[in-house]
Amino acid sequence: MPGFDALGLPPAIRQALDAMGYAEPTPVQAAAIPVLLAGRDALVEAQTGSGKTAAFGVAAVKAGSEGPGLRVVVLVPTRELARQVAEEIRALGAGSPFRAVAVTGGVHAEQEERTLGGDVRCVVATPGRLLALLEESKLRVDRVAFVVLDEADRMLDMGFAPDVEKALAALAHRAQTAFVSATLPPEVRALARKHLREPKEVRVGETHIPTSLTHFRLNVFPDQKERALVALLRAESPERSIVFVRTRDRAAAFAKLLKAEGFAADPLQGEMSHEQRRHVFDLFQRGTTRILVATDLASRGLDVPEMQLVVNVDLPDEDEQYLHRAGRAARLGRPGKVVSFVLPDEKERRVELEDVAGAAFAPYRLDIPEPKPPEPERRGPAGKGVRGPPRRR
Ligand code: AMP
Repeated sequence: MPGFDALGLPPAIRQALDAMGYAEPTPVQAAAIPVLLAGRDALVEAQTGSGKTAAFGVAAVKAGSEGPGLRVVVLVPTRELARQVAEEIRALGAGSPFRAVAVTGGVHAEQEERTLGGDVRCVVATPGRLLALLEESKLRVDRVAFVVLDEADRMLDMGFAPDVEKALAALAHRAQTAFVSATLPPEVRALARKHLREPKEVRVGETHIPTSLTHFRLNVFPDQKERALVALLRAESPERSIVFVRTRDRAAAFAKLLKAEGFAADPLQGEMSHEQRRHVFDLFQRGTTRILVATDLASRGLDVPEMQLVVNVDLPDEDEQYLHRAGRAARLGRPGKVVSFVLPDEKERRVELEDVAGAAFAPYRLDIPEPKPPEPERRGPAGKGVRGPPRRR
């Protein structure tokens, strides 16, 4: 694979990559950077963790350095991703005349004005937020040359298609467009046909899932999930872990349980305010919190290299979610584990997910402790003892 030197990068960006500690391009970077630097439209199939952000980030910095005014717009599905993408682009643009900001909403008007003040060259936003800014005439987009649609598949899944269409129409003067997507289903391809000009398709490898991941299954009964999770986290004691559950109530309940058991855990769910989520993210990134109990929506964009363990306490309903969840671990090929709890009536679903992952789930060996005996019982009438916990098969 060619090194960064072979990719024809402007010297300032080359230095920034060094400063970020990126020694070699990832496969998607090696494939996409030359295409994007040559000014071509691209349809890039790349999952989170592949280094996709820097792949288009390099081109964003180059386009953004070409003169004053807003030059680059990156559309993303979530606020957290907006923050992370802006951060990465800022790092890549450290040596260039360049300012990249995330416009996430949920902040005071004055703060947003400050964010957008000065010579901003790159804006990262959700489609809805971008449209709101345009409506309020807070953004001039007549110089925008490069537009990126990041996590295109997810955006469509989340029902953002109308906003995406409107945003792309408002950015019609752009010279170059890139779509980045973990998968390329027909809907994404249709959007690409409509909005990309003779795009170069960039796909690296057929697998969507890092091979450094090991997939496990743990067969449980419904009432064993709590105890199994506690025992699993004790056994693994991961540097960082994310635990997936189906609903926000379950996220709150499991986080509470883990805290009571002495773990540094927090819930992360979609209904939390922007500030709350950001706070939880920051604590997790710093390592103050080591376990997040999350719903699918809330975990988008979460990118922590120390993530070692993903636990599916509740199996995902959609195949795609399995890939996104698993992708949180094994960042850039680091070894990671995914442990999925499987209920007796979920065997078929497990087999489907094995197909999705492209690997059989190995049985995870764990002794799930019996439930704690109830508090010392008040004696029942006529000396009848209180029954012990039901025995499990
Ligand atoms: P992404 O796919 O953009 O979410 O990137 C995943 C992670 O890889 C991020 O933590 C990046 O900081 C990191 N990363 C991206 N490119 C490289 C590279 N060439 N070398 C080392 N780390 C990288």
